[in-house]
Amino acid sequence: MKFYSTNNPNHQVSLAEAVIKGLAPDQGLYMPERIPSLSPEVISSFQKMNFQEIGYVVMESIFSEDLSKSQIKDLVDHTLVFDAPIVEVEKDVYSLELFHGPTLAFKDFGARFCSKLMSLLLADSDKKVRVLVATSGDTGSAVANGFLGVEGVEVIILFPKGKVSELQEKQFTTLGQNITALEVDGVFDDCQRMVKEAFLDAELNKDLLLTSANSINIARWIPQALYYFYAYSRLPKNGKKVAFAVPSGNFGNIAAGILAQRMGLPIDHFVAATNVNKVVPDYLRGAEFKAMPSKQTISNSMDVGNPSNFPRLLALFGGDEELLKSHVKGYFYTDEETVAVMQEVFDSGYTLDPHGAVGYKGLKDFMEENPGYQGVFLETAHPGKFRGTVEKALDINLTLPDRLEAFMEGQKKVQSLEKDFGKFKEYLKGLD
Ligand SMILES: *Cc1c(COP(=O)(O)O)cnc(C)c1O
Repeated sequence: MKFYSTNNPNHQVSLAEAVIKGLAPDQGLYMPERIPSLSPEVISSFQKMNFQEIGYVVMESIFSEDLSKSQIKDLVDHTLVFDAPIVEVEKDVYSLELFHGPTLAFKDFGARFCSKLMSLLLADSDKKVRVLVATSGDTGSAVANGFLGVEGVEVIILFPKGKVSELQEKQFTTLGQNITALEVDGVFDDCQRMVKEAFLDAELNKDLLLTSANSINIARWIPQALYYFYAYSRLPKNGKKVAFAVPSGNFGNIAAGILAQRMGLPIDHFVAATNVNKVVPDYLRGAEFKAMPSKQTISNSMDVGNPSNFPRLLALFGGDEELLKSHVKGYFYTDEETVAVMQEVFDSGYTLDPHGAVGYKGLKDFMEENPGYQGVFLETAHPGKFRGTVEKALDINLTLPDRLEAFMEGQKKVQSLEKDFGKFKEYLKGLD
């Protein structure tokens, strides 16, 4: 299978190149040249399969030309080591809990798949791969834990000193092994700039194999389709149409759901739910697509003013904007509305995190306007990850899951770095 750039369909590359490069040289996003289609019989057979078995079938339909059956099995087995159950919150409304992984957020799925695929693709290379990541919190923890112990790959994480919550920081500074954390005396944008400069530096790239693992990489994007197939297979078959609501920031997660739909999964509607960073909901309601500076909210993993996966949404509908708008509806909510929803759902017995709350509310508003659906919202993080916000909103004390507590006990190990590319380059040149 070839992968093309959304900026130029004639620019086509191999799977290995798309994964190692991440972004196309023309800044486009890579897309599979062909979207495989799964028959209704295959999709209905998923009801009797477990998560991994469904994973093999779906991933084989995409990767069978490039990877062997046993490689695909290894990939899926490495990725799906935790469950993604659907929990009925009220009649016809289900929470798809994607937070049962090591860092308690859905990014664990993509990060685990990405690390394993990179190590498979680079198995014959004698060069060690260095994954450079700039993080303001969540990405660093998912990537670090996804790549921990993966042979031939070293992860270097740049994070702004004092700007990341203690819990988030612990999740990528205490691991050791092939994970190095560099504490930069600056802000997130400094970290990002230094990483970008490193990718562009000819001298560094002559000697080192540098790559990125951010959410536009197909190796992080595509595996997210798996839990849509799995969730759908576990819904009651009662003749009701199905909607999925996705709390969205860079729109990679929802784009993977649409990929599943284009492959044949009978999802009737998607709800794109955001906080006040509402570029896409505005677009879906008729405005021009216009990137904005991001605004800070309590669902901060979705504070994105220029959603990077937007070109994929259009590409999945063959560039037909009307077709996109007829399948995807947009809703956005303020922090006050988000807190009110968290309180209301807590009173009926379920604890939402601020991101899942935005998804839940989008689903409810859609279902009110469009009767006859059953719906699933994606609960993208464990409420304990946003403990301060959740405890304040609900006036409760949250007990953290054991694996979060375990991170808190780890010893922080970091190297300090000035916000100066020259210093970072020196550091990288010093690696063997
Ligand atoms: C990253 C993230 C999102 C946004 O996902 P996108 O794929 O960027 O739209 C939502 N919720 C949580 C908890 C996240 O970490």
